[in-house]
Amino acid sequence: MLSLTQTERDGLWREMIEAIEEYIVSVKSHRVAPKVDVDALRRKIAEVDFERPMVPRAALRWVTGLMWNHQVHTPHPRYYGLFNPNPATMGIAADALVAAFNPQMAAWGHNPAACEIERYLVALLGEKFGYPRESVTGSFTTAGAEANHTALLCALVHAFPAYRTGGARALDGPPVLYASSESHHSVVKAARLCGIGGDAVVDVPLDAEYKMDPAALPPLIERDRSQGRLPFMVVATLGTTSAGVMDPIDRIADVAGREGLWLHADAAWGGAAALVPELAPCVEGIARSDSITFDAHKFLSVPMGAGMFFTRHRGLPERVFAVDTGYMPLTRGEPVEEPHRTTMQWSRRFAGLKLFMSLAVAGWKGYEEAIRHQTAMGDLLRERLRAADWQVVNRTPLPTVCFSDARDPGGNGLERLRCISDAVIASGRAWISTTTLGGRVPAIRACVTNYATSADDIGALVADLDAARAGVSR
Ligand SMILES: *Cc1c(COP(=O)(O)O)cnc(C)c1O
Repeated sequence: MLSLTQTERDGLWREMIEAIEEYIVSVKSHRVAPKVDVDALRRKIAEVDFERPMVPRAALRWVTGLMWNHQVHTPHPRYYGLFNPNPATMGIAADALVAAFNPQMAAWGHNPAACEIERYLVALLGEKFGYPRESVTGSFTTAGAEANHTALLCALVHAFPAYRTGGARALDGPPVLYASSESHHSVVKAARLCGIGGDAVVDVPLDAEYKMDPAALPPLIERDRSQGRLPFMVVATLGTTSAGVMDPIDRIADVAGREGLWLHADAAWGGAAALVPELAPCVEGIARSDSITFDAHKFLSVPMGAGMFFTRHRGLPERVFAVDTGYMPLTRGEPVEEPHRTTMQWSRRFAGLKLFMSLAVAGWKGYEEAIRHQTAMGDLLRERLRAADWQVVNRTPLPTVCFSDARDPGGNGLERLRCISDAVIASGRAWISTTTLGGRVPAIRACVTNYATSADDIGALVADLDAARAGVSR
């Protein structure tokens, strides 16, 4: 029953490929966001009765129908959301192959090809970020959150060798790290998961553009040291979630260097700037970091999840993660890294293949063009918004655009902006969101996350916003 007959498979594959192709071709004509009725959805799912199994093609049709109508279509060119991409075709193919070949990536010996493909990608991308080839190491992760968690663990073991065996209670005081209040909340979760508690993350004040203010860092470090806390790390965010801005990592690196802190670059989205010559200056200094988080499932448009962790401290991940077992196969006599000894996971999906196959076909040049196009669409959006009396309230070369209503400056409370954003979403024609920059400036947020978003799509969004504004009173 678990392996279908060849005839059944033949029919299933054909229909599945048709369903995928139909989705790719037609999603742009569909509502971006569904209208959701939770009770109806639960009733519908419960219609599937495992006491009365379905035929394979019926199951396929049932599921595709459900997904068409019950998800926010992040691959839609008018999804202006939270860094979720339109998956590259080669990435979709790669993920299907991975499911079928099902490599087990805990032990190198089980999958030398898969492990070496990932090693190759980590080395090449690490070099793009400016890490020296001879010291770069790292791994694919489930996503950015795991990469940030890995960075915290590495920084802790590096700063406090006793942490590895004794945990936080083996330290002479509470460890603290620094991140701006606009940093990603996975840093707080990582602190909790490391056993140092969420309060270990100290908010660093922002400058007027919602970037970390490096001048605010030394007094915080001094205060914490004088109170018996143990500063060990600073996180610079390259591409903040709300405003898409880059913390000034070069100046942060000066402070981290002087104070002996581990510098982590959380470049999950913005790191892609390193691949485009005219955008690279905005991540200048990233090479000075001790570790980097980057998500291939964001700006590099591979299907989720494909996080990446990089560090220039070769050998450190093994110190952090390796445990000796009698049962895990080890490859002897070869200079290879065993993933189960250098990462958080054991059984692990071959996440790197979708990036490898996508890069193999698009090339660096293809990626450069896609990133450049999205950036140009972001510039066009800013231009069209200003022309239609919207005020852009963030400043970044990347395509995250935060704005409010210039026609009615007194009416820019979060509630009214939310009503405008909700009206756009309810129209089904686009997906946007709202945020509060620096915890105080409400804004509508639209981010170009799709390589297929065109000038027409941008024009349509601004028209939808205008219609929504007209329909929402103060
Ligand atoms: C997306 C993001 C994360 C979290 O990554 P996931 O892949 O969603 O787990 C962390 N930091 C930044 C800056 C991000 O943009």
